[in-house]
Amino acid sequence: MKTIVILGSTGSIGTNTLDIVSRFPDQFRVAGLTAGNNDDMLDDQIRRYKPRVVALANDAAAARLRRRCSDVSVEILSGQDGLAHVAALPEAELVVSAIVGGAGLVPTLAAIRSGKHIALANKEPMVMAGQLMQEEARRHKVKIFPVDSEHSAIFQSLEGHRIEDVRRLILTASGGALWTLTKAQLQEVTPEQALQHPNWKMGAKITIDSATLMNKGLEVVEARWLFDIPESRIDVLVHRESIIHSLVEYEDRSMIAQLGLPDMRTPISYAMHYPERLALDLPSLDLTEVGKLSFCKPDHDRFPCLRLGYESLRIGGTMPAAMNAANEIAVEAFLNGGIKFPAIADIIRQTMDAHQRREIDRIETALEADRWAREKAESLAGSLAR
Ligand code: NAD
Ligand code: MG
Repeated sequence: MKTIVILGSTGSIGTNTLDIVSRFPDQFRVAGLTAGNNDDMLDDQIRRYKPRVVALANDAAAARLRRRCSDVSVEILSGQDGLAHVAALPEAELVVSAIVGGAGLVPTLAAIRSGKHIALANKEPMVMAGQLMQEEARRHKVKIFPVDSEHSAIFQSLEGHRIEDVRRLILTASGGALWTLTKAQLQEVTPEQALQHPNWKMGAKITIDSATLMNKGLEVVEARWLFDIPESRIDVLVHRESIIHSLVEYEDRSMIAQLGLPDMRTPISYAMHYPERLALDLPSLDLTEVGKLSFCKPDHDRFPCLRLGYESLRIGGTMPAAMNAANEIAVEAFLNGGIKFPAIADIIRQTMDAHQRREIDRIETALEADRWAREKAESLAGSLAR
């Protein structure tokens, strides 16, 4: 029996994680849950999974939850300290990190520093401070298991092999909702269109990141730190069907890939139960039904964000954190109807151009770069407002 905490339990990854818990009640026990402001769903989850402690980032939502749950024995915390407290619950062995965005950095780091193994879905903290997170994980003898489907595929394809024998990692990209549009059409895209991901049902932020290909840029940075491999040995391949979740090429030119239907419960359960596999009662991939798989190169002209991911790594230091923060602001502005779709890339580019890179010696440096870039991107979004 493994005792777990889920950070971001009301989101897409969070609810899929709880689905695994429901399927394997003898394997997992939930000690703590956290969410942003969804007290309604957290109320249901408390009654069903009986955590000892929960936290909401939003104080007003936490106050509402305390009133609703007065009949239940559960400790309800709020704010940043509340999230960090739940991330570090003494009885938990594994923390599923599934908050969206940079908001997950401090709680995920709190979990690492209190010796919890991490099932990492929340990629933005790895982008902001990947080197530091890995150093902390080593210091506290903590394993970080990837949940992101591409990184889980690479992790699985590396099993039993030596990282020294790897020639390159190949991340596959679906291309997102807008892959077939022209530059002129991209100017007029609405949030509703960009939110129609062809293969995956996910939260709004990552779905827009998939449409801009910033998601793949973030994943290149994530892979660099998860697998300790330079960006020059990480490639991206567009594969519209999302059947091959990523590949590893070895020095002898052998390639090993992981395949499956697009369902996050497979990589989530692998990270939760490694090295064993849970018998998930899900549909099997029928390759005769798929028939053909297609591949092509990314288009950097229509989708410039992927290159920004590589560039942020070459510059290093606080640059990936600045890029990530600018992206979060730009995506929010696009979703609110404030800016046009191609302006997302412009805002990130201009924020990166204006950013004075610093070395990340401690977490506060990454958080300062994050704050600086948010302000810069806000003002750029204001001046670009349609
Ligand atoms: P989501 O928007 O569906 O859920 C986000 C969760 O974080 C919710 O529980 C929300 O309440 C919580 N949250 C939001 N803002 C918060 C804040 N400021 N403080 C504390 N909690 C906050 O997002 P998601 O799609 O589940 O994605 C979560 C993370 O996993 C992201 O980093 C995403 O890139 C990554 N990821 C998701 C998928 C997927 O299939 N959804 C796949 C790969 C990676
Ligand atoms: Mg992914």
